[in-house]
Amino acid sequence: MPIVSEVSKVDVIVVGAGITGLSTAYAVQKAGGNVLVLEASDHVGGRIMTRERNGDKVEVGQQYLLSTYDNALALIEELGMSGELIEESREAYQYIDKKGRSHVLDGETDLLRLLGVRGAADLARATLQLGTLGKPYPTYDLETCVEEYDNVTANEGLAWAGEKFRDFVLRPMCYGNAGTSLDHLSLFDATRMFRSHLKKPKHFAFRQGNLSFPKKLAEQVPVVLNVKVSGLLTRDDTVVGVQLADGRSVEARHVILCTTPDAAARITPEAFTRPRALLDDFHHSPLALAFFHLDRPVRSAGVSFGIAYPEKRFFNLSINHTVTRPFLVPSGKAIISAWSAYPDSPEMLAKSDEEIAGRAFEELKLFYPGLSHEWIEHNEVVRHAWGYSRHAPGDCRRLLEFRDDAARYAGLSYANADYNLVSLESGIIMGKRAAARAMLGLKELA
Ligand SMILES: Cc1cc2nc3c(=O)[nH]c(=O)nc-3n(C[C@H](O)[C@H](O)[C@H](O)COP(=O)(O)OP(=O)(O)OC[C@H]3O[C@@H](n4cnc5c(N)ncnc54)[C@H](O)[C@@H]3O)c2cc1C
Repeated sequence: MPIVSEVSKVDVIVVGAGITGLSTAYAVQKAGGNVLVLEASDHVGGRIMTRERNGDKVEVGQQYLLSTYDNALALIEELGMSGELIEESREAYQYIDKKGRSHVLDGETDLLRLLGVRGAADLARATLQLGTLGKPYPTYDLETCVEEYDNVTANEGLAWAGEKFRDFVLRPMCYGNAGTSLDHLSLFDATRMFRSHLKKPKHFAFRQGNLSFPKKLAEQVPVVLNVKVSGLLTRDDTVVGVQLADGRSVEARHVILCTTPDAAARITPEAFTRPRALLDDFHHSPLALAFFHLDRPVRSAGVSFGIAYPEKRFFNLSINHTVTRPFLVPSGKAIISAWSAYPDSPEMLAKSDEEIAGRAFEELKLFYPGLSHEWIEHNEVVRHAWGYSRHAPGDCRRLLEFRDDAARYAGLSYANADYNLVSLESGIIMGKRAAARAMLGLKELA
C-alpha cells in the first residue's frame, strides 16, 4: 500500500474506494494510467458492507447483484471471480395486507391470485404502457430524459392503477429499490425499476460475501485508507490535484470524485457554481437498518413487506438473511433485519441506536409471529446517512445538465452510482466513462 507523503504527483487521483472508485481506478490502470485511490474511511467497499459474527455473515449494505448487470459481471469474470458467485434460490415473498393478514407468494401465479382481476389487468396495462410500448431508455445508465416520465411523481403518473396493484407491486418495488414511497420518486425512476423486474433477472451473491468484490479490486490498484480529501487544487479553472484534510496535497493531471454527492459537494470549489447547485441539493433516501442475530432459526419468507398496513410503521420491509443466503450463515440461526425508508427514515435516524432497535423489533413481530426478545443474541443498528439517491420529478433533467456542466471543468470528473441510476452497475458504467475521459485528457496533455 503506498504512503501518501511519498506520492507527490500521479496521473489520476480517484477519491473514494467504493465499487465505483475501485472499478474506475482499475479501468484507468488498465488503460495505462498511473492512478491512486484515496479513501477517507479505514476500509474499502463504501456501501458494500459484509459483517461477520461467530462465522455467520450478513450484508448490511448492497444486497443483490443481478444477472442484467453486464458491466459488473464482465469485471467479475476479468478478476477471475465468476466461480465465487452463487445464484440465490428463488425467494418467497410475504405481504401483509391492510387487515394484517399474511400472504406468502411463491411465484407469479400466487401474485396474480393476490392481485385479483383488477390488479392483474393493471399489471398487464403497466407492462404494455411502461414496458413494451413505453419510451425506450437504458435501465442502468442515464442517457436521455423522457420529460413526461420525469416531470411527475410515480404516484401521479400511475394514478390510474387500483389499490391492489399499488399495494402489492408498486409500493414494494419503490420501497425495496429506492427506499422511498411512490410520492417521492419520479415516474421515470419507477419505470426503470419496473422494467428491470419485467426482465426477471436472477439474483447473485458472492460465496464469501459481497465485500469480496471490492476487496479483490483493491488488490489490483493502489489504495490509501484514512485519507480524507477536503478540496481541489485548481489553476486557471483547471483541477491539478487534491487538498487533504490534514493539510497535505497531492497533484494529479485528473481527479475523479467517486464519493456520494454530499461528500462531492464539500470537495467541489464554491466557484464551480452550477455543479455545486445540484450537489448541494441532491435528493436521497437515508436508511436506518436494524439487524438481529437470533439464537434459533425462524421459518419465514426471505423478504417481507407490510407496506399497505394501516398503522403507522417505520420499518415496512424485513429480510430473513438466513433464508435468502444460507451459505453465509453456517450456524443456521436466523439473522433478520428491519428497513426504514424515506420520508420516515430521517426521523428514525435522529433517534439513539437503542430506540431504533427497540422500535424495529416491535414492528418485526408483524412479519415473524411469536418473535421474542429472549431469542436475541446480538443486535446492531446500521446508519446509512446517505442511503441511495432518490430521483424526484425533474431530477433526470437536472442530472444530465449536471453532467454537461461538470464536463466543462478540465482535470475533473464525477462518477458515482447516485449520478446515474442508483445500482452498483450504474456506478461501474459511470466510472468507466470517467476513466476514459481522464485518459483522453492525459493524451491531450502529453
Ligand atoms: C442498504 C443498501 C442496500 C443496497 N442494495 C443494493 C442492491 O441490492 N443492488 C445494487 O446494485 N445496489 C444496492 N445498493 C446500492 C449500492 O450499494 C451502491 O450503488 C454502490 O455500492 C455505490 O458505490 P459507490 O462507489 O458509487 O459509492 P460508495 O459506496 O458510497 O463509495 C464512496 C466512497 O467514498 C468515500 N469518501 C467519501 N468522502 C470522501 C472524502 N472526502 N475523501 C475520500 N473518500 C471519501 C466513502 O468513505 C466511500 O468509501 C444498496 C445500497 C444500500 C445503502
